[in-house]
Amino acid sequence: MKVKIHDLEFEKMIPFEHIEQRTAELGQTISKEYQNSTPIFVGVLNGCFMFTADLLKQVNLPCEVAFMKLSSYRGGLESTRSIREDLDLSVDIQGRHVVLVEDIVDTGNTLRYMVDKLNALNPASIKVCALLYKPEAMEHDIPELQYVGFEIENKFVVGYGLDYKELGRNLKDIYQLVK
Ligand code: 5GP
Repeated sequence: MKVKIHDLEFEKMIPFEHIEQRTAELGQTISKEYQNSTPIFVGVLNGCFMFTADLLKQVNLPCEVAFMKLSSYRGGLESTRSIREDLDLSVDIQGRHVVLVEDIVDTGNTLRYMVDKLNALNPASIKVCALLYKPEAMEHDIPELQYVGFEIENKFVVGYGLDYKELGRNLKDIYQLVK
């Protein structure tokens, strides 16, 4: 099935059923690894809203959730080097175990920025859970990236929280750009 968003056409790539199944696996792994602690999940808005909600339903632990808002794409197809901070973290993470929840890791610039920023606040630990990861595009070594839903090709994707110029976030499945 194809969808048109603004001027571009996208085709279905990961159906919701696969996302759901993988998210359940990630939730189980995280629940096991954080037994006996109360982690704080920090979602990076806007793209993470659906994944964070579904992931947390699969986490069987006492846990907290908070959000930050950053923008690096500015609505286009290409990643930009500049990162704008729109909403800062409202919780104190000092001495806490933090799981950063990302929709997608592309060049890794945003993640590098986030991990450095959170590390400066002296958490007990930081690990990253990203639904999608484009290994070919990655420009950094980020050992905190421990949980990955799907490794994908270096193609632009939308749906399940991810947008193209602010549209497409409400699509239930993930779609990739048709060339
Ligand atoms: P990075 O800093 O890793 O290059 O990019 C991270 C951010 O760029 C993500 O949080 C996301 O907002 C955006 N991004 C990267 N790749 C894609 C993509 O394929 N589709 C969409 N919609 N956003 C992307």
